[in-house]
Amino acid sequence: MQTPLEILRTVFGFDSFIGRQAEVIDHVLAGSDALVLMPTGGGKSLCYQIPSILRPGMGLVVSPLIALMQDQVRGLVRNGVRAAYLNSALSGAESYEVERAMCSGGLDILFVAPERAVRPGFLDLLAQCRLALVAIDEAHCVSQWGHDFRPEYTQLDVFSQRFPDVPRLALTATADGPTKNDIIRHLGFDRARIFSTGYDRPNIRYHVQPKYDGQNQLLRFIKENHPDESGIVYRLSRKKVDQTAAWLSKKGIRALPYHAGMSADQRRANQERFMLEEKLVMVATIAFGMGVDKPNVRFVAHLEPPKSVEAYHQETGRAGRDSLPADAWMAFSLGDVITLRQMIFSGDAPQQRKIVELEKLNALLGMLDAPTCRRQMLLAYFGQELPAPCGNCDNCLNPPETFDGTIAAQKALSNIFRTGQGFGAGHLTDVLLGGKNERILSLGHDKVSTYGIGSEHTRKEWQSIYRQLAAQGLLDVDIEGFGVLKLNARSWEVLRSRQTVAFRKDQEGARGAASKKSRIAGLAEQDAVRTPEDETLFEALRALRLQIAGEENVPPYQIFPDRTLLEMVAYRPQLTEEFAQLFGVGRMKFERYSQRFLEAIGTHIRANGLPDDLPPMPQRREIDTKGGCNGDERTLEEQITETVRESVRLLRACHDPQQVAKERCLQESTIYSHACKGLAAGMLRLSDVVALSEDELQQIEEQFRQCGDAYLKPVYDALDGRYSYAVLGCIRACVRRKKD
Ligand code: ADP
Ligand code: ZN
Repeated sequence: MQTPLEILRTVFGFDSFIGRQAEVIDHVLAGSDALVLMPTGGGKSLCYQIPSILRPGMGLVVSPLIALMQDQVRGLVRNGVRAAYLNSALSGAESYEVERAMCSGGLDILFVAPERAVRPGFLDLLAQCRLALVAIDEAHCVSQWGHDFRPEYTQLDVFSQRFPDVPRLALTATADGPTKNDIIRHLGFDRARIFSTGYDRPNIRYHVQPKYDGQNQLLRFIKENHPDESGIVYRLSRKKVDQTAAWLSKKGIRALPYHAGMSADQRRANQERFMLEEKLVMVATIAFGMGVDKPNVRFVAHLEPPKSVEAYHQETGRAGRDSLPADAWMAFSLGDVITLRQMIFSGDAPQQRKIVELEKLNALLGMLDAPTCRRQMLLAYFGQELPAPCGNCDNCLNPPETFDGTIAAQKALSNIFRTGQGFGAGHLTDVLLGGKNERILSLGHDKVSTYGIGSEHTRKEWQSIYRQLAAQGLLDVDIEGFGVLKLNARSWEVLRSRQTVAFRKDQEGARGAASKKSRIAGLAEQDAVRTPEDETLFEALRALRLQIAGEENVPPYQIFPDRTLLEMVAYRPQLTEEFAQLFGVGRMKFERYSQRFLEAIGTHIRANGLPDDLPPMPQRREIDTKGGCNGDERTLEEQITETVRESVRLLRACHDPQQVAKERCLQESTIYSHACKGLAAGMLRLSDVVALSEDELQQIEEQFRQCGDAYLKPVYDALDGRYSYAVLGCIRACVRRKKD
């Protein structure tokens, strides 16, 4: 049997497991139940996909949304996994086909909606197949506490009764205490092991700034940081969604609206476009969320704060599922705070519930105005401790200046008191600044003792002070009274000088937003796309990906994730075996797409030459070790192409791959792979390629005898990394030739 790691590499084209994936997979392979709590983008899907492939029989996955099922099935099929779904979108004939495949052992994974999963007829059908496992995705839907409650989920414990020997998984990204308990109780998971990786999304960079002119601030943020990428903008109301979508479009940013006031067809169409297209911004209310698993959403922007820390974490979490750098950006004002509070109090919820909601809102507001590391605050809210500041949020990157605001706070609060606790922040600021408008004069507010005492701060600063006082709970916002500010018990503590107050100085602009063209993990701190020429290649590759996606009618990210394209730019692979090393290139995608992408890269190189500081292509995995070098299924003769002959000719003359690389404007790794083929075909002697002593060669050959020649890594390690993979590859070619 293949190992999980082999499946990960050959089927999915990834190098290693992330988080606790490996543990979960081993646990399930051993036949035990698992409750998997991982944040969005944590890689939950592989936890059931790989055991479904490896265990005998078919994995059954219960998923709440048709869109999610379709997306997963498309992706799996593209990697050569036998996957299908059964749901109401299928015709009778299509369903019949799937059921037949299922009963004849023709499926590795089947996705179904919860309604169908618990139907007696369907359970009988399942009893006739072999079940590898049952996975319950988005398991928080079982809980009434959450916002995605699906009553059918509560019946899913039927599987533990009907199929007691089949291991089960429940997976979710949103499990606070009560939700977790509901999952365990309703789904019968009390014997399951819990695998939790916490809440952190390290690739997301958080920014919060005061809002003055929200839409323009948003536009600036997008233009400066993500001009040609996909993102989501959240707004509080349907009207504002329509407004902002139209406005952005007018300003040259492709944007679509999404909210519950649109027809179901319109919503579906816009969501479909967001998934299928690139460089598209979705402006939406919170109605847009579940089922959106586009991995390359590069930013999530809020033009009003959400209602709680949980909502903030969940909504921002839709950025950067692919683990490349992403931004969570927000601008908010005192007006938003007032609106949110009014919304809570004007709703029909019972009083008790309103109080809870208000507390949740206050927790978020307090966090937005605090000057310390945002990630630490966010994680602390979920009970998770981050020992040091993260270095990847605005407060860490540009520590805000704070100032002792006790005097300013006293002036601001006393101003509320002197004017009779009946006015909003705008008028209050006018009074502090000694304004002479009609309202002030007619109310006689030019006579109060706080009139004109605030000239040491600007209007913006006073607005910020009132906002921060509200966020810190040092004054009350009168809910029914249209934003009227009032004093509370804590205000009096400040007024009586029993409490000091610190404010942060507002900063504008998202300085240090996540890099425009994302960095590749492992490629040091280097941008993959650095020069205009890189940009040209990246765009060409994107266009090719979009074209293929169109031909196959799937979203572009299912052809290759962004990271694969970025690696193509960074390493400029020219040979099939190099291409096979790229992130996300499994066996199936290698066969389907390598040719076209290599052609595109080749065309670019012919037109532009090769940059001289290309990093070497990492040697990560070996797709297939048959044939001359590796991964090439052509016969040896077919592999000796014109370009290989040319390298061989030059190597015979100068015995120096580095020199040949320079001469031919090719990468050294390319020359070495040509050399491998030349050596395998007997066209070269080893001394044409490597300058090693007889002793050294014998030692290396001995290691190949001991470790076998299927993989280079064991030999590389055994020799303490003294010889590069390229050199070892050449020696292996000779060892193999001798063997034959
Ligand atoms: P979740 O369901 O937890 O939100 P997914 O299963 O959708 O996360 O995975 C998020 C992204 O990470 C996907 O694009 C997936 O292909 C990628 N991914 C998952 N596991 C790995 C891995 N071991 N190595 C590299 N990428 C991975
Ligand atoms: Zn931080």
